[in-house]
Amino acid sequence: MSENTTNGSPSSGSSHPTLGKKAEDFRSFDSAPARVHEFYRLNHVHQTRAFVQAKKRQYLALDHRRMAVWMALEYLNTLVDDSDPDTELSQIDHSLQTTEAIRRDGHPDWFQLAGLVHDLGKVLCLWGEPQWAVVGDTFPTGCAYSPKIVLAEYFNDNPDSRDPRYQTRLGVYEENCGLDNVDLSWGHDEFIYHVARPYLPEPALYMLRYHSFYAAHREGEYSYLMDDRDRETWHWVKTFNQYDLYSKDHAKPDATALRPYYEALIRKYFPAEVRF
Ligand code: FE
Ligand code: FE
Repeated sequence: MSENTTNGSPSSGSSHPTLGKKAEDFRSFDSAPARVHEFYRLNHVHQTRAFVQAKKRQYLALDHRRMAVWMALEYLNTLVDDSDPDTELSQIDHSLQTTEAIRRDGHPDWFQLAGLVHDLGKVLCLWGEPQWAVVGDTFPTGCAYSPKIVLAEYFNDNPDSRDPRYQTRLGVYEENCGLDNVDLSWGHDEFIYHVARPYLPEPALYMLRYHSFYAAHREGEYSYLMDDRDRETWHWVKTFNQYDLYSKDHAKPDATALRPYYEALIRKYFPAEVRF
């Protein structure tokens, strides 16, 4: 486990540093702590196209561990996400806040389940991966960086920024090639997408795979890499983001009380153990 993956103090859950925030106060990176800046500096310097492809070869065979979904949530619970300026709550709190907000709005059970599992790919941090290779906003590698990517100035020190093949608008891709053919920066989104792919309906899989792709779902960038299927399904990614982001304003959920409901939901869609 790398040193910066835990703060070792889950007991801080009784205070809520995000309570009372307005929508425009979330994801404010200008005033973000130094740890967030250092996180994105490392992320933007090291996430090259070659790095992404190597991580896909390393992890997408899903031969690292088998876990029940709820056990994976508990396993993840020691992690504090250095890229997130908005919350000091635990991972299981964030997962339950997200899914409970989705449930309160009457959305279908598979949508709730997407909320519950969307960050489970962060178990990569517990297997020795540095946070810059797991969390934070994702972006396409192999083509020009959008200036709307968070803290984009740190791309200047990414080796791909000096490779002319990768610095045109399309780079290695074709117009409207479809996001499935694009190597986004490696992280928990792509990993949990592959873990859940056999089990959840396509809109849920889009939510998992692209929930950190803020340049696209927030800023509208990179639409020329999308195909018709991406464009038709994209509204689910945007809808999901409202819950992932703004549910952080709610109080700490009661995991013990909620567990039976979500265990039943997990059983409906997932087998007893899932390959990670
Ligand atoms: Fe996430
Ligand atoms: Fe999340």
